[in-house]
Amino acid sequence: MILIVQSIRMYKKLVNFIQDIYKTKEFIPLHEPRFQGNEKKYLNDCIDSTFVSSVGKYVDMFEEQFAKKVGSKYAIATVNGTSALHISLILSDVTQDDEVITQPLTFVATCNAIEYIGAKSIFVDVDLDTMGLSPKALKSFLELNCEVKNNKCINKTTKKIIKACVPMHTFGHSCKIQEIKDICDTWCIVLVEDSAESLGTTYNDKHTGTFGKLGAFSFNGNKIITSGGGGVIVTDDENLAKRAKYLTTTAKVPHKWEYVHDEVAYNYRMPNLNASLLVAQLEQLEIFIENKRNLASKYEEFFKDDENIDFIKEQKNTKSSYWLQAVIVKDVQKRDEFLDYTNKNGIMTRPIWKLMNELDMFKDCQCGDLTNSKYLEQRVVNISSSVVM
Ligand SMILES: *Cc1c(COP(=O)(O)O)cnc(C)c1O
Repeated sequence: MILIVQSIRMYKKLVNFIQDIYKTKEFIPLHEPRFQGNEKKYLNDCIDSTFVSSVGKYVDMFEEQFAKKVGSKYAIATVNGTSALHISLILSDVTQDDEVITQPLTFVATCNAIEYIGAKSIFVDVDLDTMGLSPKALKSFLELNCEVKNNKCINKTTKKIIKACVPMHTFGHSCKIQEIKDICDTWCIVLVEDSAESLGTTYNDKHTGTFGKLGAFSFNGNKIITSGGGGVIVTDDENLAKRAKYLTTTAKVPHKWEYVHDEVAYNYRMPNLNASLLVAQLEQLEIFIENKRNLASKYEEFFKDDENIDFIKEQKNTKSSYWLQAVIVKDVQKRDEFLDYTNKNGIMTRPIWKLMNELDMFKDCQCGDLTNSKYLEQRVVNISSSVVM
């Protein structure tokens, strides 16, 4: 009883703390977009130009500026992050006969993209400190289950080729991406980064999404910057960049007027309207990151003496965008109590995703030991993360 009273008192303090930060007693959503810059100006300009669809200067501007921002040679804008992942996997030569390693603790889009090709996901555990794919777990899975033959990684159980590996940088925290890259290189596996959540995040001062052969980002409404819906593929490989553009634009052969398409491809191009919004958002990225990092220090201070709740911090060698702020409620019993109290009192909080290998459509996928993923699945909660005005 005393324990319950103590934790309720703590939740109440947290609700007040968050209301003070956002200076409101009204409902506080988990993550709201902010449009305080040139959004309306560029949108109006875009509408006035009538180039609102698949051709227009904002798409080109965005691609150029984004590539520069993350330090990749090329960027190809897409309709959403899922399509960016889908095309990245196609460009990694993943086919329906192949397998792709990813983490069970991710948003469903990662696995959907693998499934669109007809390939199979294999789930390998995450690290407790980063919540992203664990290089240690990856290495031991490969050593236990696989062999390299003719520069291909063969899964000895299924006899299939493991073509790619898709780690994800959870909530803006970088996973141990350099270690993962080294392992992928040794095992002849193509590295594709799901960087949907990690724009603004670096590992050893190098931007996440640029370690792999290809990286995919998302600009969905809840991400750190948004175009309503949108995504981008980054790569340093000129041929892959050209192919990415081509596959996302219905494989049209350039011609002054003829409609010649020489492959079945996709209509995955980002409309100019969305790109105009995104160019304005990208101008504010640094301000958003600084704001989120400040918010993170406040939370860190708030939770520092709490015995039951740990605030999730960036790891050394990394700089996190702190896109979504997160805590670990150590006592599993108390997680629902925490969710219940905050949501009833006007503060939106949400648990981390269900593990992918437990969803109906991925139940038959091969898994490594998933101890850390299971631990985090039961305990992680996202708390108010919008940029503070
Ligand atoms: C947001 C997100 C995506 C892509 O989502 P879209 O809504 O298609 O832009 C992919 N993976 C992860 C982990 C995400 O969080």
